[in-house]
Amino acid sequence: MIRIRGLTKYFGTHLVLDRVDLDVERHEVVCLIGASGSGKSTLLRCINRLIEPDYGEIALDGVSVSDASFGKTGLQRRVGIVFQSYNLFPHMRVIDNVTLAPRKVQRLARAAAEARALEVLALLGMESFAYAYPEQLSGGQQQRVALARALAGQPDVLLLDEVTAALDPELVGEVMAAIRGLKARGLTMVIVTHEMGFARGLADRVCFLDGGRIIEEAPPEQLFAAPEHPRTQAFLHRLL
Ligand code: ADP
Ligand code: MG
Repeated sequence: MIRIRGLTKYFGTHLVLDRVDLDVERHEVVCLIGASGSGKSTLLRCINRLIEPDYGEIALDGVSVSDASFGKTGLQRRVGIVFQSYNLFPHMRVIDNVTLAPRKVQRLARAAAEARALEVLALLGMESFAYAYPEQLSGGQQQRVALARALAGQPDVLLLDEVTAALDPELVGEVMAAIRGLKARGLTMVIVTHEMGFARGLADRVCFLDGGRIIEEAPPEQLFAAPEHPRTQAFLHRLL
């Protein structure tokens, strides 16, 4: 579904992504791990063109993401992204946060958008909070609303950038459970996480980034139990 070849990005003279190749199959969950600054967020943001790379190709189902047939907005609907900071609109109820983009971007009628919103909220166990305001919710619940908002556009793939990093420890589990539920439904995801146990239990494949390169990729049971590259070994060892 996603095919990345030779992806290269500089910030000024700093090489942040160095000829990255990555393929993601439909229904696959790929986790990106690596030290802070290794380029994980930049890689994720290039996929939906929040960041424009300097060199390389990214294709979605065989079509370049910079192809005019997508348009940036169309691409960003097909490739949803959720960040660490959930950024819900505080003055809008949950349901209005979730229906905003489908109504404004996809021009869905209110009733259709609300029906879809209630469906995705139910998927994340948040339907009973549809008419609450964000400040009435815990951080974990707000993050589940942010996931619902990304799903309301019916994306083909969801990118998650450390979505549990800002949460109190006791709220991390409910968000992880929600993400496991999305995998069970066959959603294709690329997930940046510092939670190795989560990556191990969830990923079909784990990629270790170091200095802007994917230097090792393997199924989780292999990568965590018997990492081959010394830098992967050192990274995982530091976390023990
Ligand atoms: P990670 O998500 O793995 O922590 P990032 O992709 O955020 O890594 O960052 C990779 C490198 O690029 C870091 O050295 C970071 O400081 C730098 N960087 C990220 N975004 C920018 C930016 N907008 N301008 C300049 N440098 C940036
Ligand atoms: Mg990051």
